[in-house]
Amino acid sequence: MVTRISLETGTTAPTGKTNAYVIGGEDGLLIDPAAYSSRLDSVITQHGVSHIALTHYHPDHVGAVSNYATEHDLTVWSRYGRMAAFEAATGVRPDRIFTVGETIPVAGGVTVVDTPGHAPEHVSFGVTESGGRSLITGDLALASGSVVVGAPDGDMRAYLSSLRRIHAMNPDRLYPGHGPVITNPREVCERLIAHRLARESMVCSAVEAGHETIDSLLDAVYEKDISGVEQLASATVRAHLDKLAVEGKIVWDGAVAQPTD
Ligand SMILES: [Zn+2]
Repeated sequence: MVTRISLETGTTAPTGKTNAYVIGGEDGLLIDPAAYSSRLDSVITQHGVSHIALTHYHPDHVGAVSNYATEHDLTVWSRYGRMAAFEAATGVRPDRIFTVGETIPVAGGVTVVDTPGHAPEHVSFGVTESGGRSLITGDLALASGSVVVGAPDGDMRAYLSSLRRIHAMNPDRLYPGHGPVITNPREVCERLIAHRLARESMVCSAVEAGHETIDSLLDAVYEKDISGVEQLASATVRAHLDKLAVEGKIVWDGAVAQPTD
């Protein structure tokens, strides 16, 4: 059984709140404790949680890792190869390591699914519930709107692959890091893929039309006013340019973008 606890983070998270999740069962698992709350505290006790893991290490997902790990003496899990980043983000040294594809022996068996793109270390956690197959997906998807995929931390190619991977798995529901539970995962994956590909084709067309710099591309690609979110928008455009360049559709040296011919 999965319990969702929405926590105030006071950060720039899409909703100002982040969902922590508790997967109950023997040796229950706590995921993404963004902040301390008495409700989360009692759910942890009630469900006999003894492990903790993160979908990714962004500040709005990790705020209370140290707190809970210490107070409840939890076993701390990190993705293989990302232990130093885990410790840098949380101040906690991981006790155990998981690799993607593995089923970790907590909460009756939790499968780790590789879902990079929003962040390089990003994973999702799969569990079987009475209502079917569920995935705790961090910042891979939102019920409405889209998540940030911005260079250099974000990788648009990886992000689209992750969405396609989840689409192919065809789970019954997704538990996102922000906002309500997603009960139509395939539809949401399709919407998010279509949204990215539409923006990508606008970026590609703008490069072909002679827009070479980030500033010029931002003007060409965003119809709405982006003041206040220029950094986010330019990181997103960079992520699209990186992808287009890797795929040989444009030439991009990090400053100037040009058509291939
Ligand atoms: Zn994030």
